Amino acid sequence: MYKISLQSGCSCPNRDGTISRGGCTFCSEGGSGDFAAALLPVDEQIELGIKMVESKLPKNSGHKFIAYFQSYTNTYGDTQRLISLFEDALKDERILVLSIGTRPDCISDDMISELRKLQDKYDKKIWIELGLQSVHDETARRINRGYTLKVFDDAYRRLKDAGLSVIVHVIIGFPWEEEEDILATVRYLSELTPVLDGIKLQLLHVLKGTKLGEEYEKEHFHVLSLPEYCSILVKCLKLLPAETVVHRITGDGPKKILIAPLWSGDKKRVLNTINKVVRES
Ligand code: SF4
Repeated sequence: MYKISLQSGCSCPNRDGTISRGGCTFCSEGGSGDFAAALLPVDEQIELGIKMVESKLPKNSGHKFIAYFQSYTNTYGDTQRLISLFEDALKDERILVLSIGTRPDCISDDMISELRKLQDKYDKKIWIELGLQSVHDETARRINRGYTLKVFDDAYRRLKDAGLSVIVHVIIGFPWEEEEDILATVRYLSELTPVLDGIKLQLLHVLKGTKLGEEYEKEHFHVLSLPEYCSILVKCLKLLPAETVVHRITGDGPKKILIAPLWSGDKKRVLNTINKVVRES
């Protein structure tokens, strides 16, 4: 299965002034979804997305897809409008999973109940992706995340109670976090009940046009080297329960705006090194 990135046209309360205007300090103008399609009707976005992915794959091999509403906060807006967009994606037979990126402070009970109905109606999985990044409130403050761990815990419980799957995003490499802080985040997530469905582990990318980028230009704080990243990553992976699916072990930030660490732009080398380190550990 391949993932195609879609847009719902939502903004983010951490950017539109509801919570703040600056956004999370690492977040680029694209709202953490720099590879998403242009804002077209969902069926057109899906057609374009599939065409793009299939151009790189062997012909007619019956691929299936995950519709991923990635950029900004995709449950931040009118529930009925959003549910109708999500349904447009689920109607497509080639789509087997709907994945929705959002914030835990933007998921109403009404939205959860509508998503549950959609999941039952189409008998397809719905994943909710929450950008937690770290369990430490000091980090939340420093990255201007705009909500506390308690808010995450509450949303997690409500989503799981409704039978929806939850994937949590974690960033490895904030310059003020020690290795033990990062492991504490993953340990916390690995001990959640009910068990966490999925996790995305992501290297901290410093991008142009972000607050973090400005700080880096001034201070040149430490960013992880590839061996440092691999070493922490392996320790994180070992903490996770077998039921938690690892959806991402790194990421490649858009090269045009990537400031640091530059080694992360060489995806092939990064993946080969991670493979080697994981095998040897
Ligand atoms: S919540 Fe997501 S979209 Fe909003 S500022 Fe933070 S990273 Fe960006």
